[in-house]
Amino acid sequence: MADLIKTKEQIETMAEGGRRLGAVLDALREAVRPGITTRELDRIARMQIEAGGDKPAFLHYRPAGAEKAYPYTLCSSVNDVVVHGQPSNYALREGDIVKLDLGLRHNGLYLDSAITVPVGGMSAVPKEVRALIAATEEALYAGVKAAKPGKRLGDIGYAIERTVHKAGFSIAEGLTGHGIGEALHEDPAVFNFGDKGTGAILKEGMVLAIEPMVAIGKGGIVQLRDESYGTIDRSWAAHFEHTIVITAKGSRILTPNAS
Ligand code: MG
Ligand code: MG
Repeated sequence: MADLIKTKEQIETMAEGGRRLGAVLDALREAVRPGITTRELDRIARMQIEAGGDKPAFLHYRPAGAEKAYPYTLCSSVNDVVVHGQPSNYALREGDIVKLDLGLRHNGLYLDSAITVPVGGMSAVPKEVRALIAATEEALYAGVKAAKPGKRLGDIGYAIERTVHKAGFSIAEGLTGHGIGEALHEDPAVFNFGDKGTGAILKEGMVLAIEPMVAIGKGGIVQLRDESYGTIDRSWAAHFEHTIVITAKGSRILTPNAS
């Protein structure tokens, strides 16, 4: 599938877009505090992306199976909401966790990245939630590290799953990472679980969004009224995501941020 391989020029364009996206996520992390509404975070995200001459990737995007196009720039998912939470007048409270998932289009190419932020800082959330956030971020980097030319998609999923299970948490079911570039979601699906040495072979120039979504309790999820996904058991969930490119030596994160 030669169309999955990006050119050097495309990769450098995506690296610039990813650098910009990481900077917006850093600004959003700084803006998170008790009392701020998720709609205000959305406003900041849109303003910063557009100020750079780029386009929000999620705004007006209609995912497969969704009834309506998405009306916001940011996905802001609080506590037991895993992903696709819609910004609202909800004012964040100390001790909440908010997942900030953001995409942009830079010179025609898409980038996608997410962070989980504890409102009021790490000391404001219980030990178990701190462990959840740490394990999810660790799982992301384990997945990134496993992404090398000659390895397979299942190696990424295996590395993520192993890290999450070792910490005693669950992978949110039915949600995956994805290829990305000329479209926000391209083949292949990047599962957060898998068997070593199985699945498509990873090749230099492939660009993937790797994104573990992890719950404290069971991994079952349900679609909520605003088309977001929450855990069935209402246990809290975390999410971290980077867009990466497979290089000759391993992989390179295209969406670096300060976390
Ligand atoms: Mg995302
Ligand atoms: Mg994604």
